[in-house]
Amino acid sequence: MLQDGKVIEGGGEAKPMVDVKASCLCGSGQPAEKCHLDWDGRLRKQMPSLTPPGAITKFSHPSCYLRGTQNCSEDISREHYVSKSVLDQIGSTLRVTGMPWLGVDEALETSVASLTAKILCSRHNETLGPLDQEAALIFGKLRLALTDLDRKTLSRKPILHLVSGEMLELWMLKVACGIFYSVGGVENGQRLSAVSKIDLDKVSRAFFEDRWDERAGLYFRGDIGQGFKVSLDVAVAPLRDPETATYCGVRMELQGMLLDFLFDSSTTGPWPWPGFTRRPSELIFQRGPRTHGLVLSWPPGTPDIGVRLKHGKGPPRERLSFA
Ligand SMILES: [Zn+2]
Ligand SMILES: [Zn+2]
Repeated sequence: MLQDGKVIEGGGEAKPMVDVKASCLCGSGQPAEKCHLDWDGRLRKQMPSLTPPGAITKFSHPSCYLRGTQNCSEDISREHYVSKSVLDQIGSTLRVTGMPWLGVDEALETSVASLTAKILCSRHNETLGPLDQEAALIFGKLRLALTDLDRKTLSRKPILHLVSGEMLELWMLKVACGIFYSVGGVENGQRLSAVSKIDLDKVSRAFFEDRWDERAGLYFRGDIGQGFKVSLDVAVAPLRDPETATYCGVRMELQGMLLDFLFDSSTTGPWPWPGFTRRPSELIFQRGPRTHGLVLSWPPGTPDIGVRLKHGKGPPRERLSFA
């Protein structure tokens, strides 16, 4: 299904070729040409509109972080900001590190129950729901691929799934906002929102207009071709510029991978950033002759950079914090 690409500048492998007659990687059973094949020869999952349906309400709920759109409902949602479908895939506790009031080795275990956050109105919470559904799908497929690679089998059938990179990216924005407003120290009740600033215009623009800061977005962190170890750990840390206290995004350690998400790049260092792969088009895990992984779809024109990782000893454990 995928041909080996050649290494291009910045690391990574270019141009996975799509076999248009083969079954679509979304799992529909249809040939790709009748399913997710887009006009530019790529497989692509279309983004649903995240704008709430119907006329603008012209109401801004003071507790909703998307209030700047003046399109809130009058009731606030009590739902978990990381929805249950996702937690079923990644586990019931989320390890949070890198909070400014925590020591470097300290982590905060957040239970599902404590993730109840009153930070979105019901109208906005509902409209962002598809992001959680896609994230749950992604983590489920990733787990399936990795656990299959971890067992010994003679089957060489690749397991590849088409998922939406765009939706994963926006889901991480949702998580970033949730952590900013609702995760705090249990004893002193500190919140990132009390000690950092956030540019909510950038948040709204990314969700509703697909407009981003330069170089903002989702990054795979690590060396392409590096080893990976199957692990079911999930940890999250805020990305925050300590000098200006600007909140920039979130880092997630997921099943042995490091993903960085950035929505505010105003305080980031000069380009290039070695070891960062922006908007990877594939995350492929190899063990001997077997390859499993995800094909991530992005808007037309996104450079095609695949990330391949080899089963074996993982990279040295990096402390999950912002530097
Ligand atoms: Zn399809
Ligand atoms: Zn709202």
